[in-house]
Amino acid sequence: MTPRTFRKSAEKYPSRKYNGKNYCRYCGRELAGRKTSFCNYRCIADFLIHTDSTQFRNYIIARDAGICQLCGFGCAHNGIVHHIVSIANGGSEFDERNAILVCKQHHDELHSIESNKTKEKFKAMFGVTEHVVEHE
Ligand SMILES: [Zn+2]
Ligand SMILES: [Zn+2]
Ligand SMILES: [Zn+2]
Repeated sequence: MTPRTFRKSAEKYPSRKYNGKNYCRYCGRELAGRKTSFCNYRCIADFLIHTDSTQFRNYIIARDAGICQLCGFGCAHNGIVHHIVSIANGGSEFDERNAILVCKQHHDELHSIESNKTKEKFKAMFGVTEHVVEHE
């Protein structure tokens, strides 16, 4: 995980206090009692998923059931969370709609300079082709 990215992303959810009242950093609801940052564990979990690379990765692995979305191979332990639109091309790093779990082999093929069946399949599924860039 990169601290720089974490900071940039966490800033999207600053502490919020107006007129002596505190509001949830994640969902923006007014907080009851002595709470100053989040409503509940659900909002804390959502905040972490959307600001912390490790938590985001774990979330995508769980959502995709540990299976490569291109070949159906189980890859919970060595799979890679691949951004559909790469961050270098303006894709959102912490948007779950922009990430899928893929196995090492198919990830390598997605980032290959050569055209191949995996890239064709990916393009058919997501309509995106530009993947010759490396991850950060
Ligand atoms: Zn909340
Ligand atoms: Zn695969
Ligand atoms: Zn990738």
